[in-house]
Amino acid sequence: MLFSSRIEVKDADQVRSMRVAGLVVGRTLERLRAAVRPGVSTADLDALAEQSIREQGGVPSFLGYGEPPFPASICASVNDEVVHGIPGARVLAEGDVISIDCGAIVPDASGQGWHGDAAITVAVGDVPDDVAALMQVTEDALWRGLAAARVGGRVGDISHAVETFVRGAGAYGIVDGYTGHGIGTSMHMEPDVPNAGRAGRGPRLHRGMALAVEPMITLGSEDTVLADDEWTVLTADRTWAAHFEHTFALTEAGVWVLTAEDGGRERLAALGVPCGAED
Ligand code: MG
Ligand code: MG
Repeated sequence: MLFSSRIEVKDADQVRSMRVAGLVVGRTLERLRAAVRPGVSTADLDALAEQSIREQGGVPSFLGYGEPPFPASICASVNDEVVHGIPGARVLAEGDVISIDCGAIVPDASGQGWHGDAAITVAVGDVPDDVAALMQVTEDALWRGLAAARVGGRVGDISHAVETFVRGAGAYGIVDGYTGHGIGTSMHMEPDVPNAGRAGRGPRLHRGMALAVEPMITLGSEDTVLADDEWTVLTADRTWAAHFEHTFALTEAGVWVLTAEDGGRERLAALGVPCGAED
């Protein structure tokens, strides 16, 4: 069902199918988090991710995506790399941070594929206090954004919540030019979900909409540059960045965080809003 020509609205069964895909992604990221340590290469993490996605019945959605075709199952972005880093021979060292972005497609009984998309940033051993704070602010901003979504609200409510939290937390850069997005039968759909904006503006939020919220925050500039590999996005000033993402669906009861094991219950309750999880 489409409310506009471009925003896909899911029925309850379709949201449950997206929950299956979301859990494949969320559980894969937890395996990757546990595997991050000094001496592990980003290619090692990519291999683990592909194995995890496939053994849970999914297909890595990043593999072959875009132009030039993305060559891996995760994006692995280290330190001053913001997003879209290509896994390879790079070996993680004590004090690094790695942002891991993961997506999977899981078919429902009819064969229709449904997408999940989520990201975490993980410290490799001990990191400086400012980097630890950056990670915390980015993850908390994600949850503020998720908590701001409600049936009858607007996409701008999410953007405003993310921006307000980050601006109130310190002198951070909110990465310009990259946003969250609608998600469902494709990974990237309408509408965009910006990480800054005005409450009460933008497309209206309906029951059955599914969105990925993904703040990308830096210790410096909001500006980025694209590496020669045509994928890796780096901060223009080479300060370090963090990236957290969840996919959620709006149910009548509230926000169901499809890529979180508990559906978002704990974090949403801490922010005083109802959770729409149905499992
Ligand atoms: Mg992602
Ligand atoms: Mg995304």
